[in-house]
Amino acid sequence: MVGVGEGRVALVVGGASGIGEATVDELVRRGWRVVVADRDAEGAERVASRITASGGAAHAVTADVTDTSSVVAATRDAAERWGRLDAVIPCAGVIDPSPSDTLEDASLLRMLDIHLVGTIRCVRAAFPYLCEAAEPAIVAISSVAAHIGTPHRLSYTAAKGGIEAVVRTLAVEWAPHGIRINAVAPGWVKTPMITQAIDEGRLDAGTLEALSPFERLAEPVEIAGAIAFLASPAASYVSGTTLLVDGALTVRGPWPQ
Ligand code: NAD
Repeated sequence: MVGVGEGRVALVVGGASGIGEATVDELVRRGWRVVVADRDAEGAERVASRITASGGAAHAVTADVTDTSSVVAATRDAAERWGRLDAVIPCAGVIDPSPSDTLEDASLLRMLDIHLVGTIRCVRAAFPYLCEAAEPAIVAISSVAAHIGTPHRLSYTAAKGGIEAVVRTLAVEWAPHGIRINAVAPGWVKTPMITQAIDEGRLDAGTLEALSPFERLAEPVEIAGAIAFLASPAASYVSGTTLLVDGALTVRGPWPQ
């Protein structure tokens, strides 16, 4: 459990499942102490207990990213757990595949609230603690959906595009505080968000694999590695950017092999 992140503390919001859970595992593997936050309190506790049982340092808190006071309280709890906070990774998310013309206002606002405003809530709550850290970092989660035309993802793409714009703005505004902020934009990843849609027939695994130049979906750990890099001092001069982790999905053009 000893690694380059030894002693550093990260808050992973949405850490009870999928990319968030894989990020918790990857950071712990690199020697970080991790606070696992999620609206799924039992899930967060399960992940933290699993880490603790295997000798790592993890602590669970409950947080709903749609509620500012919940995010502020969870972030305070996280910073007080080990007396420092070095990185925050807002990873919570849901999907809404409604067609754009029939998407209800309430659904649109809910998606923007969870993804875009939720990310802003997480980073603003962490700001005072990150200002005290030696090499503070934020890694937000975008998607390839912000980079290519993605049907039936109006609210999702609006939110993810907004997250990338927020990353650029805060990278400049918070640079005087030493805070780096970047985003990771994954392609299709084998998490419950996607596997449930496949199991329920809303997505077809074969179609997704055929779209990928590597002919497969990403494993959550492959996204977590990129997140852990951007959170670490190894990325000390990387800020304001979005790292596509999509197996060349977005650069694939109509060209034969
Ligand atoms: P997931 O469903 O496995 O995990 C999402 C987690 O977010 C869950 O633990 C859930 O409880 C939590 N969550 C949801 N709403 C919340 C809220 N209001 N407050 C706090 N926690 C909340 O999904 P995932 O695939 O790991 O997604 C993680 C992030 O990655 C999301 O932002 C998603 O949009 C993004 N992403 C996923 C993919 C993919 O293919 N899976 C691709 C690109 C981007």
